Formats: sequence, structure tokens, C-alpha cells
Amino acid sequence: MTAVSVRKASGPGVLGKVAVLANGVLTALLSARLSILIFHRVHAEPDSIFPGEPDAHRFKALMALLGKSFNFCSLDDAVRGLRDGTLRKGSLAVTFDDGYVDNLDVACPILLALGIPATFFVASGFMRGGRMWNDRIVEAVRHCDADVTEIERALASTPGAGTAVQGARTKRDLCLRVLAGIKYLPETERNQAVGHVERCLGMTQTDALMMNEDQVRKLRSHGMTIGAHTVNHPILRTLDEASARSEIEQGKADLERVLGEEISLFAYPNGKPGADYCARDVRLVTEAGFTSAVTTEWGVSSVGDDLLQLPRFTPWDRDMWRFSLRLSGNLLRRNYARATA
Ligand SMILES: [Zn+2]
Repeated sequence: MTAVSVRKASGPGVLGKVAVLANGVLTALLSARLSILIFHRVHAEPDSIFPGEPDAHRFKALMALLGKSFNFCSLDDAVRGLRDGTLRKGSLAVTFDDGYVDNLDVACPILLALGIPATFFVASGFMRGGRMWNDRIVEAVRHCDADVTEIERALASTPGAGTAVQGARTKRDLCLRVLAGIKYLPETERNQAVGHVERCLGMTQTDALMMNEDQVRKLRSHGMTIGAHTVNHPILRTLDEASARSEIEQGKADLERVLGEEISLFAYPNGKPGADYCARDVRLVTEAGFTSAVTTEWGVSSVGDDLLQLPRFTPWDRDMWRFSLRLSGNLLRRNYARATA
């Protein structure tokens, strides 16, 4: 089946059909449930390596479409509604993870224009510069002029990913293979692998990808909510308790210093229950004083659910019909996983 992208879906015919689906089928599935969407980057233009990722045009179209069926609400209000039983029908909260500068430059103006509140979970360490390990890989591949075969050859000795890169056909494929190969390496080894990739591809860091303190303050001044996402974005489950506690508490303290207000929302880095965080981390988040936390497990929340492990949904799909079907499936998904050990 030919994919119909949002970009192509600007004509009234396709959008009209999607709107009918959204207003009809989806509305029938909605009750007092909270859907929480996760975004990361919103590119100004389609990304050359990951062209399916959100860009300004698609993001705006998606938000406008969702507004026809859902009630956008801030995550704070939604959590309050879950707590006191006043959650509105079809509630939908928009969240962004990590703290990319395009959240302020590209996504925020669109959200403001459409009157949509959003929460931005910022890994506080990157406000002082640097970028996340996965972005270092992607940017190293992006900035390398060599063709894929040459890059593959150059990366053949990458710890954890040397074998995985063999046979990659595109830069996107290469990136995904390296990322998957080193994702769960211990932090020191993973950093060595990232450094190896950067050296092999002649990468020297260029533009700032993440928001600095002033930019986070600016986002807040536009009425957006800021949540915590640790300092260095580690896989919490792999840390000892003292380190996990420090990451959780310091990330909160950093943002509170920058913004001069209490930070009450938290997002688990990577966010898969059991794989990326465990019950100990939920306890640490509670002890740090957060009132609510979100995961990356798909699902929707209802009154009575665990406020420290709210599931979220990655809405992105180049094909809007597939997106609608996935959204419907997510709305029906009530038995989502939580970390219990
Ligand atoms: Zn993250």
C-alpha cells in the first residue's frame, strides 16, 4: 500500500477522511482516559537521515488533526484530573523528552499558535553543553562525506557494533545498527565506542543541539511546563542506588535553580519498565518529591492508575492511516507494563 504522508495529506480529501476517522472511530473509543504523546526533536525541515521524523510542517498538521478529536491539556492538569477523578473525556497531553533546542525554536511557536500546552523533560547536564550519545553517533554519520560502504569499513572496529554495521545500505541503517549495538553497553564502554565513531568519521562537535539555561527559561516563559529527566540521561536500572538517586535528585535541583520553581514531573530516561528503570527507581523518584512520572510504555491512563508510571505513546508515523490505527490500538491498551521489581 502506498504510504500517505502528512505532507501529502494537505488536500481536503485525505485530511477530511483522516478527520472523519479521528472524529468517528477514535471518539467512540474515548472515555475519561489520558493519552500522553512523546516527541523528541521537531526539525525545521525534513531530516536528511531520518526523513520520517517530525518536522515543522508535519508536526503542525498532526497537532491540528488531533485537536479535532482530543482535549489537549497540560500534564499537570491531567495528573490532577487522574488524582481527583475529574479527568476530561479524551484528554491528551503533549510531552517532549531530552531538551532539544528545536523544541523552543520550531515546536513551541506551533504549539503557541494552536493554543496547545506541553511539557518538556530536560536532561539538565546538557544545558551546559554537549549532546546525548545517540546524537553524537547520528551527527558523526551525518557530517561524514564518505559513502555508506566507506563509513561501514571505517566503523568495522567499533566496540559492540563492528559486526552489526556490516551490510548497512543507508546512513540511516548505519546509525540504527550502531545505536542498537552500543545502547546497553556500560556507560564507560559506550562512551569509548562513541568516541571511536567520532574519531573514525572525523567528527568535531558543531552546533548546539540542546537548550541552554536561558532557552529553558524562555520556554517556561511561554507558559510551557518543564519536567526533569535526570542529569546525564543514564539507564537508571544499570546504576547503583546512590548514583541513580543522585541523577534523579540533581536533575530536579538543577532545573529548580534555573527556573526558581518546584519541578514536580519526571520522565524515566529511555523509559521501558524493567529494561530501563526498575521499582527501586520509582521509589527514588517518589522520595525525590516528584508527584508524577512518565514512561515510554505504550498505553493510556485512567483514574486510579499509578501516577509514578504513566504510559506514553509515540505518535509518529509517516502514514496517517497507520498512525490512526496505532492510536486506536493504543487507546484500547489498558494493561500496560509497569516496573514491579
Ligand atoms: Zn530521553
